[in-house]
Amino acid sequence: MDQSENRDKKSTDPLYTLSVVSRLTNTPTHSIRQYIDKGLILPFKTKSNRHLFSDVDVSRLKCIRKHLDEQGLNIAGINALFALVPCWIMKPCSVENRKNCDAYSDVTKPCWQASNKGPECRNTDCRLCPVYKLPEKCVNLKDFMKELTNT
Ligand code: SF4
Repeated sequence: MDQSENRDKKSTDPLYTLSVVSRLTNTPTHSIRQYIDKGLILPFKTKSNRHLFSDVDVSRLKCIRKHLDEQGLNIAGINALFALVPCWIMKPCSVENRKNCDAYSDVTKPCWQASNKGPECRNTDCRLCPVYKLPEKCVNLKDFMKELTNT
């Protein structure tokens, strides 16, 4: 395993409890629970039903706070923003399979919340996917799309 794979693995490891993440992100625990309920973050769930959070989840939470506090978005708005990420290009999935994937057409929520996913995603752990990890640095989506589409 090379260094970048190591880093990648580390960043998605479930490391922090809810109270630690609350401190790290300056976010009340009840708000974090709300973001989980609304599907904005996907923390790891232990056998005893406790949530554990990775570095990726922490970055995602900070990004969510930024959208809420600085850009005046609400949770529905953030979901709609994340829904714009072209997962079908990033994954990628075939044109044929896109037709059978709710994430391809849904504009209200991110792809990992889709109830009917295409075959490329059906048995995938979304926590490890580049699409879920994208807001790690709270990217400017417009710049990201330009880069992705080379325009
Ligand atoms: S694996 Fe999950 S996060 Fe990645 S594109 Fe598929 S549904 Fe989205």
